[in-house]
Formats: sequence, structure tokens, C-alpha cells
Amino acid sequence: MEINKTRFIRKPLDWDKVKVPKGIVHIIEERCKGCGFCIEYCPKNVLEFSDKFNSKGYHPPYAKHEENCVNCGLCELICPDFAIWSEAEE
Ligand code: SF4
Ligand code: SF4
Repeated sequence: MEINKTRFIRKPLDWDKVKVPKGIVHIIEERCKGCGFCIEYCPKNVLEFSDKFNSKGYHPPYAKHEENCVNCGLCELICPDFAIWSEAEE
């Protein structure tokens, strides 16, 4: 991923050597209860509610902007139902 240099007020000396992690999002839609925690707290605004329903009648999230996922793991930590996680892209 290309780093946007203008976003830094101060730049680390080795910023051009840093490789920003990239994540792939996995969602088990049937486990989701539509609480929206993962959507609300994802620091990169990757997730959105989908239009589809699972069998419990909830809208599970989907990775609308997966290209922005940095594999921080917060969605996995915050999900009460173990319905979402990310893995590092090779
Ligand atoms: S791993 Fe982090 S950046 Fe990626 S979707 Fe989850 S909370 Fe968002
Ligand atoms: S935190 Fe888990 S249960 Fe809540 S909306 Fe996200 S995936 Fe669904």
C-alpha cells in the first residue's frame, strides 16, 4: 500500500522503509447479531452493514473498503460472537 506522506505531521526517519500491514477480513455471517461494534470501532472504516439478512434476521457486516484494512485485529477482539477476524495478506 502506498503511504500518503501528507497525513504525517511528523515523519518517522525510516517511514519510507515501513511496510503498512494489509489484512483480509473474514466474517461468519450466521454468528453475527448485528450489534455493529466492529463497524463502529474499526479505525480504518473498513466495515459496513450489508443488505442481506442472516437466519436470525440480522444484517451482518461486510468489508466495504477491505483495501484499507491494516490487520489490527480490533474487530476480532471486540466482536462478542466471534464472528469476524482478519488475517495478514501475504
Ligand atoms: S482488522 Fe482492524 S482495520 Fe481490519 S477490519 Fe478489523 S478493525 Fe478494521
Ligand atoms: S461485532 Fe460481531 S456480532 Fe457485532 S456486528 Fe460485528 S460481526 Fe456482527
